[in-house]
Amino acid sequence: MHIGFDDTDSTKKGCTTYIAALVVEKLKKMGASFIDYPNLIRLNPNVPWKTRGNGALCIRAKFNPNNEAKIKEVVINTVEEYADLEFRGTDPGIVFFTKAKIPREVAKFSKNAITGIVTLREALKLVKKFKAEALGFKKGRGIIGGLAAIGETFDDDFTYEILAYRIPENYGLKRRVREASIFEMDKATMPYTFNNVDMDKHRIIITPRGPDPILFGIRGETAEAVKKAFEIVKPLEPVERWVIFRTNQGTDAHLKKVEKLSQIRPYNPVIAKGIVSTNPKIIPRRHVFFSIKDESGKVECAAYEPTGALRKTAIKLVVGDHVEVYGGVRKPSGDIPLTINLEKIRLLKLAPKISYQNPMCPKCGRRLKSMGKGQGFRCEKCGSKYPNMKKVEVKIRRELKKGIYITSTRSQRHLTKPHQRYGMEKYGRTVEKLIEDWHFP
Ligand code: ZN
Repeated sequence: MHIGFDDTDSTKKGCTTYIAALVVEKLKKMGASFIDYPNLIRLNPNVPWKTRGNGALCIRAKFNPNNEAKIKEVVINTVEEYADLEFRGTDPGIVFFTKAKIPREVAKFSKNAITGIVTLREALKLVKKFKAEALGFKKGRGIIGGLAAIGETFDDDFTYEILAYRIPENYGLKRRVREASIFEMDKATMPYTFNNVDMDKHRIIITPRGPDPILFGIRGETAEAVKKAFEIVKPLEPVERWVIFRTNQGTDAHLKKVEKLSQIRPYNPVIAKGIVSTNPKIIPRRHVFFSIKDESGKVECAAYEPTGALRKTAIKLVVGDHVEVYGGVRKPSGDIPLTINLEKIRLLKLAPKISYQNPMCPKCGRRLKSMGKGQGFRCEKCGSKYPNMKKVEVKIRRELKKGIYITSTRSQRHLTKPHQRYGMEKYGRTVEKLIEDWHFP
């Protein structure tokens, strides 16, 4: 059975992964055997009504059919107990899916939930069609994520994350982990873990902020790597439990290629090619804006201040550069046109950058002075005048090279594929066997 659930947490409390950890432990006690690590699926981060982090969960397990009713009850009770049901906008949902193989339509639904917008109606239609069971609390929006998590088959790529949880007494307090041990872990496990530290700012980024139960999370390429990394990190407060998840984090799964700029739609994260059509401007003082065009249309691109390295690249673009841009799409509002909020830029072809300078004096070699617009030039050294000379074109060396530029580590989204993962993709690979200890207790 595949058990999917979502939308149990709020900005104030809880975390859907924590409920997954509890369910795993309870199911194990009931004799279930797991056919995969629990899956943590990040859905489209550009959905305006998303939950925090927009992560949905799926547990895939086999058990004695006589236990089925009891297992469902345990899942429902755990969600009910740990979801923040009082919070407006938290609308948990659970889906029980009994077919062993994921139907293509459900996989497609999942892809759409990660790259675009899907509705509860579509989810319920599929639930009915495949005789699954869905249960919603309040508005039941979580059924969407629950089904989407079930439908993610990781055909393209996947990663792992080990999450360590705090004891409830510490919720809301400052997280205490020995920083030096995180730098040490990063060094020891590279390149098989990623996004542990932000090297630009020499800051650790494995500990979240906020009141949720997570103490820290380590992302990596294999279950063994994140487990090893976990053992190097020294927490300075009790770890209540931990679990390894298989995820679509760091895979760019949310981005979908469009052939033409005219196909770009709000809330659908894209990869789009175009030619820079306006030089970058800085508004207001820190964010960089420029536009790109192709034969079908034009779109605005924004590199916000927190994107750090990416913003520094964007500002060096010039009209005529060929680029491929990656990012979420904001719908137009007021004077602001349809805008891609950049996560990455691939520089495909650099246009020459030209500046116009005064010519040199043909007699003495000194750079000439202008005598006013359209009046020609004169030489300050030898006194010669040249009323008919024009400014000369000078090619300026570009500070950019072709290649991919990515937002700084600290502002990467859960789904953004970092530099380090290029070449590490696991196309079509599957999980044969789980490692021995992948959760505690
Ligand atoms: Zn001269």
